[in-house]
Amino acid sequence: MKIVIAQMEHETNTFSPVETPWESFGPDGPYIGNHAYKAMKNTRTPIGAFIDVAEKVNAEIVTPVAGFAYPSGPVAGAAYDQFCDLIIDDVKQGCDLIMLDLHGAMVVNGRTLDGEGTLLAKIRGITPTTPIAISLDLHANITEAMVDNSNIIVGYKTYPHIDMYETGTLAGELLLRLHRGEIKPIMHWNNIPLLAQTLKMNTSEGAMKEYAERAALSEEKGSVLASSAFGGFPMADIPDAGMSAVVITDNDKKLAQDECTAILEVAWSQKESFIWFDEPLEDAISQAKTLEGGPILLLDHPDNCATGATQDTMTTLREALKQGLTDIAVGPIRDPEAVSVLIEAGLGSVVTLPVGGKTDMPAINKKGEPLELTGVVKNVTNGEYVITGPQFTGVKASMGRTVVFDTGDTEIVITEKLQEPWDQGVFTSVGIEPTSKKYLLLKSRMYFRPVFLPIAKHSIYCAGVGVGSSDWTIFNYEKIRRPIYPLDNFTD
Ligand SMILES: [Zn+2]
Repeated sequence: MKIVIAQMEHETNTFSPVETPWESFGPDGPYIGNHAYKAMKNTRTPIGAFIDVAEKVNAEIVTPVAGFAYPSGPVAGAAYDQFCDLIIDDVKQGCDLIMLDLHGAMVVNGRTLDGEGTLLAKIRGITPTTPIAISLDLHANITEAMVDNSNIIVGYKTYPHIDMYETGTLAGELLLRLHRGEIKPIMHWNNIPLLAQTLKMNTSEGAMKEYAERAALSEEKGSVLASSAFGGFPMADIPDAGMSAVVITDNDKKLAQDECTAILEVAWSQKESFIWFDEPLEDAISQAKTLEGGPILLLDHPDNCATGATQDTMTTLREALKQGLTDIAVGPIRDPEAVSVLIEAGLGSVVTLPVGGKTDMPAINKKGEPLELTGVVKNVTNGEYVITGPQFTGVKASMGRTVVFDTGDTEIVITEKLQEPWDQGVFTSVGIEPTSKKYLLLKSRMYFRPVFLPIAKHSIYCAGVGVGSSDWTIFNYEKIRRPIYPLDNFTD
């Protein structure tokens, strides 16, 4: 038995000015062929799980490509073509099964608003009957094309996503059972016109918890094989953005439909609970100032690169310094220009320079605003570390050349590349011990939870500036289906 296994992951924020070329999909672009196998085996990712599932049954494995890029603006057309060509070339050689680790919210410049559905349709065009399983992110915006052109869809059940491997395992094993003729999967999906905010999608609290739990409950019923409750990705101006659910049963269409409806009803009946309202930045910082102990997390969530933001806005740090906060570790800020200047100056040098604010954000009508700072070049590294936290465990991360810039009040980790603070390694790898700081200013929305929350005394969301904002009123939606809540009112 021969199985084609590939990864093509990107969450596209259509409002983001950050470009997404081929090179963004790995340290030197995506891993290709055997490099993909070597890089992704033994990682707690869906593709890592697919490889394990396939090896357990001694299948021949072909891995055309594995690429994961941070959320950012639409993917370059040429990069997408290359992904599709590599996967399709291997599929054309003949295979029995196809397992794809996808995100489910990829938009491609000049090609398609549905990167995954379009790829799957291309594959089906070549081999209409080869069974296909896909794993998707909880933030997938499900489309008709994805469902029509695959046999098994399983989404993450957690946000922060700590069940990537389990998701891949379930999808892969269901595909093997289908191949052995043990099951006849019937997939049903539906969506609701609800544009939920990612900050309201934490699966361990509130309405999102109930929604996720209803999907988990569904998996315990009769012939249900998999139930996925998707939060969707709201920073996507595409028709299919929003919440949806996919239920797979063993040959029971009605049960699949009923369960899908019941899961979505849990979300729709509490639609107001999925909308986020910011408190003013000044209030958040002055509250942080009154808190005892540390570290206190200052969560600069609108500039979170895992939502497609530029990770270089300085509004929150500016306000923190203005209100006199000290002993802050900040990071990471992406500013390759500043990294070059500081490395050129050399370790121990005192430098005055504009930090951050190098990127304009036309979709939200904001110009980049650097913050002029004076400080010492305290450390310089190659920015590499291995993730030891509970998500992406074992994956080698690269921040590009990295500098610690010490202004006295604050130690800022400045990097060449985008880097979500999803692991303490963003600080420890450059010699900062996060537990010793009074404040940690993190460009984080949700991933701080499994990593930084356990070491923190308090955490405060700070409404800085960025295209990852949860304030839906600043975005100009044009292509999304209407009506949709909260852009439109529903009276039912
Ligand atoms: Zn996600």
